[in-house]
Amino acid sequence: MTDTTAASAQPLTLLSEEEELFRATVREFAETEVKPYVHEMDEAAKFRPELIRKFFELGLMGIEVPEQYGGAGGTIFLSVLAIEELARVDASAAIYVDVHNTLVNNALGRWGTDEQKARYFPRMTSELLGAFALSEPASGSDAFALETRADDKGTHWELTGRKFWITNGGEAGLFLIFANTDFAKGYKGITAFLVERDFAGFSVGKRENKLGIRASSTTELILEGCRVPKTSVLGPVGQGYKIAIETLNEGRIGIGAQMIGVAVGALEAATQYVKERKQFGKAIAEFQGVQFQLGQMATEIEASRLMVYNAARLKDRGLPFQREAAMAKLLSSQVADRTTSRCLELFGGYGYSKEYPAEKFYRDAKIGTIYEGTSNMQLSTIAKMVLK
Ligand SMILES: Cc1cc2nc3c(=O)[nH]c(=O)nc-3n(C[C@H](O)[C@H](O)[C@H](O)COP(=O)(O)OP(=O)(O)OC[C@H]3O[C@@H](n4cnc5c(N)ncnc54)[C@H](O)[C@@H]3O)c2cc1C
Repeated sequence: MTDTTAASAQPLTLLSEEEELFRATVREFAETEVKPYVHEMDEAAKFRPELIRKFFELGLMGIEVPEQYGGAGGTIFLSVLAIEELARVDASAAIYVDVHNTLVNNALGRWGTDEQKARYFPRMTSELLGAFALSEPASGSDAFALETRADDKGTHWELTGRKFWITNGGEAGLFLIFANTDFAKGYKGITAFLVERDFAGFSVGKRENKLGIRASSTTELILEGCRVPKTSVLGPVGQGYKIAIETLNEGRIGIGAQMIGVAVGALEAATQYVKERKQFGKAIAEFQGVQFQLGQMATEIEASRLMVYNAARLKDRGLPFQREAAMAKLLSSQVADRTTSRCLELFGGYGYSKEYPAEKFYRDAKIGTIYEGTSNMQLSTIAKMVLK
């Protein structure tokens, strides 16, 4: 009897021709177009606007958007490859592409009406950057305790409140904003709104000066009676909590990919360095103590990559992936944290200097354990499923 299951099962890291080509294209782009500016952008805490334009030109901003709207009609797995390759060079570049694809395009694709998709997707795949705004000054992990309110004014909604820590806030033109339409209903009052940057009553507040992903813009959003048309509610009123949870479930796969990329970038830099740096009359790569660390790091990266790829492939097959995505995000961010720290140490004192790449990878890795749900929140999601 033929074992069709085994025959159709693929090694997770075996890429199709299309995936391989896509990965190679993004790698080439990252190496030639992004890498020369990474240090300068990190120092200036400012991402070059022309690189965002190039993301659009290269087709990186509509990876899963259907072709009829100008997208590539691809998979989350392709998004993972793009995010990983960009993060290998610059985690800030990766997060622009990540938030736009895995959060904003994703939510619009799943919950948008045909009219909303026709209104925004052609622009989201060509020039309009997206941002996802859930967090507030007083609500992070406890996201559904958000205080931004949405009042029904009959002809339109009026949003009032503040959003905090919003990635892409500096440049985005479209913001997916969560507000409560009925606090008496608790989290079941939360509703998602598509808010354009030039809507009356909307403004972008202060920009954070951060430890890592410094070139990525992270801003406050201010809503002062912001007028939002009725046609800009995403999904049903009161279902915003579901949209947020389900979107973030997928988003975590992207953060996992970002963390693998950061860890790979750091390990590659350290591997090159230990071959060149001589102490006690030989390259430090010849010391077994150093080799063991390289072996450990490569193994941990491979384990987290398998988890991220598996979560993506499950999602692309339409299978449950929530547990796997939470585990992948948890592990890959821990691995990136450990790997970048060890790599910095392998550079010795030079690792501590901004002249070398190790310290930036180390700073950039830290965010993985915080955004899109802290490590504790991933553990709590995973534990709930274990205990079920
Ligand atoms: C650079 C950056 C970019 C971001 N981008 C975005 C964005 O684009 N959109 C957006 O909406 N948000 C964004 N965020 C916000 C991010 O998602 C939150 O910072 C994160 O969810 C944690 O919330 P908090 O900062 O309020 O920390 P808190 O929730 O106050 O947590 C503080 C600590 O307490 C722990 N903790 C809290 N509750 C529990 C519990 N029940 N059990 C155990 N431990 C607990 C946490 O794990 C953490 O260690 C961004 C944040 C940063 C730093």
